[in-house]
Formats: sequence, structure tokens, C-alpha cells
Amino acid sequence: MDVQVLEKIDAARPLAGRVAVVTGSTSGIGLGIARAFAQAGADVVVNGLGARDEIDFVCADLQHGCSTRVAYNAANLMRPDEARALVEETIADFGRIDILVNNAGIQHVAPIEGFPPERYDAIIALNLSAAFHTIRAAFGPMKAAGFGRIVNVASAHGLVASPFKSAYVAAKHGIVGLTKVVALEGAEHNVTCNAICPGYVWTPLVENQIGDTAKARGITREAVIRDVLLAAQPNKRFAEVEELGALAVFLCGPGGRSITGTALPVDGGWTAH
Ligand code: NAD
Repeated sequence: MDVQVLEKIDAARPLAGRVAVVTGSTSGIGLGIARAFAQAGADVVVNGLGARDEIDFVCADLQHGCSTRVAYNAANLMRPDEARALVEETIADFGRIDILVNNAGIQHVAPIEGFPPERYDAIIALNLSAAFHTIRAAFGPMKAAGFGRIVNVASAHGLVASPFKSAYVAAKHGIVGLTKVVALEGAEHNVTCNAICPGYVWTPLVENQIGDTAKARGITREAVIRDVLLAAQPNKRFAEVEELGALAVFLCGPGGRSITGTALPVDGGWTAH
């Protein structure tokens, strides 16, 4: 039997020396994961949309108190060539890529007969296909290095459905499937791939869908929060981005070595129904 030497563990900085790309990390869950990675010792490539001065502020804030490097890459992940370039430019700049978090995502809520086809295509392109393109670019270098940690931020909607979210639910179920395939192809090379499946987390993405959901269902904002969003979540609270950050650090650190191909709910019991 092969005896593999475990990586030396620095409990306070379990990702020390790692290079991580986190897509969609200028806001919300991605920003929470990027912050947790920087605090855990990783160099972090931030990606996402937004005003340049706000992004510079986010990067400076991430670096504050962490002796790690934080860089920004403006790739628009709707475009396959830019998704690929995000990984290639990271490798050119940092020498390698150890961790890839596919987190960037958008949402649109509407009944299926009125769902705009261009919104459907955009959601599939960003929430599903962009992850294929970044993984495809990172996979060879990770295999060659004998180390890779890929985390796909899916959703409870990767495991169960809700009405009026046809594109989102299709994309999130798709990324759970992609996660399993990548896990199988990477298993012998110490390249793991897992999906994190949050329930509702209070971020701009959720804030922005409250109005659309109120319109689609003909109810008030307060009723959407109480009777739609938190109705699905038995613990009756929104998860916080720090909880997702802590889980991502665990999956990418020494303790996550044998965890691969999973879809981990962080949903207060929603998918236990
Ligand atoms: P958010 O709107 O706060 O952040 C989305 C991020 O994606 C931002 O950084 C944005 O700039 C980036 N982005 C958008 N379009 C992009 C593009 N074309 N190219 C590159 N980056 C782009 O949203 P969030 O709530 O933090 O969501 C992050 C992920 O978590 C998404 O995949 C979402 O589906 C998933 N998720 C969120 C919740 C929740 O309740 N908030 C629950 C389950 C899953």
C-alpha cells in the first residue's frame, strides 16, 4: 500500500503558500471566501465586476493584516476566452494555481412562459459554462503539480427546485453534475472537486431578487422574506458569508484531502425536507 506523506499543517494558516482564484469575489459569498483564504495564508486572485475604485478598496481591505498577495483580474466570465485567460494569467503571474473557486453567478426570477431567453442563456453561461472553462484551463496544471482544490459554489437549488427559477435551477443542478465528473477525473492526481450548496445567504444577489419574486407571486417584500425565502430554511436565518468562507478553507486545507465529488448543503436543513 502506498504511504503518502501528508502536507505539513500550519493550523493557523492552513492555506499558507497556496495560490487561489475566486471568481465573483468583489461581492457577497465570493468576497467572504476570498477574505477567509487570505486570512488562512493563501495568495488570492480577486475577480468580478464593479467600479475600479471600489474593487481597489476591496483588495486593499483583503490584504490588510494578511501577509499574502492579493491581485485583481477583470475577466468577464460570460466570455469563454476571458474565463480561460483568468487561469492562464494567474499561472503566468503567480507561477501556478492551487485552488479554484467557481462562485460568480447571477439570478433571474420569472414564470417559465415569460422567462426572457437571453436571461436563460446568460445564467447558463455564467453559473455553469464559465466553471467548465476555468476548470478546463486549470485541470492540466493541477494534475501536473499533483495538487488541486476546486470548489464550485452551487446552491440548495443544485439539489432541489423552486418555481420561477428555471435557468438558475438548471445551471445549479448542472454544476453539481460537473463537480462529480471533475472529482472522478482528478481523484488519482490529488485534485479534488466539491460543490457547496448554500440556502439563502444575505447578499446583493438575494436582495435583488426579492422585488422580482414579489412580482412573480403577487405578494409584498416582507412576505417574500418570511413566506418564500426563510420558509424553505428550517433554522429561519440567513447564512453568513463567513460560514461559506470557513467551509471553503476546510475543503482546500489538509482536512479536505479525501473529500471529493460531494455537494455539501449549507442550508439550515432546507434539503433535509
Ligand atoms: P453577489 O451578487 O453578491 O456576487 C456575485 C459576484 O459575481 C460579484 O462579484 C459579481 O461582480 C460577479 N459577477 C457577476 N457577473 C460576472 C461576470 N460576467 N464575470 C465575472 N464576475 C461576475 O452574489 P452572491 O449571493 O454572493 O452569489 C455568489 C454565488 O453564490 C452565486 O453563484 C450564487 O448563485 C450562489 N448562491 C448564492 C446564494 C445566496 O443566498 N446569496 C445562495 C445559494 C447560492
